[in-house]
Amino acid sequence: MKTSSILSSTTPMVGKVFLIGAGPGDPELLTLKAARLIAEADVILVDDLVNREVLKHASPNVRLRYVGKRGGCRSTPQSFINRLMAHEAHKGHQVVRLKGGDALIFGRANEEIDFLHERGVPVELVAGITSAQAAGMALGRSLTDRAHSHGLVLLTGHPQKDGASIDYAALAQQGLTLVFYMGLARSELIQRDLLASGVNSTLPVAIVERASYADARVLRTTLGELSDCALQHAVQSPALLVLGQVAAVQNAHLLQEQNANLFPECESGFALSDAIAGPRLGAKTPSDQRVHFG
Ligand code: SAH
Repeated sequence: MKTSSILSSTTPMVGKVFLIGAGPGDPELLTLKAARLIAEADVILVDDLVNREVLKHASPNVRLRYVGKRGGCRSTPQSFINRLMAHEAHKGHQVVRLKGGDALIFGRANEEIDFLHERGVPVELVAGITSAQAAGMALGRSLTDRAHSHGLVLLTGHPQKDGASIDYAALAQQGLTLVFYMGLARSELIQRDLLASGVNSTLPVAIVERASYADARVLRTTLGELSDCALQHAVQSPALLVLGQVAAVQNAHLLQEQNANLFPECESGFALSDAIAGPRLGAKTPSDQRVHFG
């Protein structure tokens, strides 16, 4: 008898947990892979930042469990969520754990992965579009910039459990773009900390509320005005704080000039007319599919 048949007759079939990022809100920002796995799931555990519209991909027979854990509100304990996932997987079910944005960014994913691995449950991770990326879309700007920002730091606005403090000011002063998740309720503290550490009060800040939703709001301000601005405009969660030069008010005139200069900068002999006329996906021969250079 082969080892595989011994196993199948004696070992109960363990299912699998898929830890999936549902994207920042716009249901079209769900990955194709996530949509397929949602459709194939027996059970889906849904966090409250997940736009319910993505569940339209699910089978009518799926069991949905809403396990939101919104800061400050009544929430499902993490230990319950962990046990529920392990329980369902041990029954042989395909379990989807759906989280807002990217499940691997501020989603307590490692706690869940460790818990499941310790109980012999296989876990597969499926990346999603994190809300910081949606904030870039809302700002209409790249969060990195060759002239102004050589990097991007994703930070939590929550205090550290071990009491350690992050030197936000050092990061800001190096010209990095800082994106604070869960920072809205603590915007006054973040502002005070940065100003006290010598960061210029004119540092541009954008508050991006409900990034990627149809009713998203972008409020542009400065570090000195940050908390007043959030208060005055009654910004609601979920919202991100984006600090750095890329958050500055967009100069439409400058942008137009940059676009006008874009093509003359190409030096490779790339013929714009060929690219515009370009090959179609249905072109018959492989050579038809080549992009032509003049
Ligand atoms: N895993 C998520 C982040 C979870 S932490 C992700 O990758 O996006 C929760 C925080 O994410 C919120 O407090 C808020 O700061 C931010 N957030 C999530 N979705 C958002 C959205 N659509 N617009 C703005 N901020 C969002």
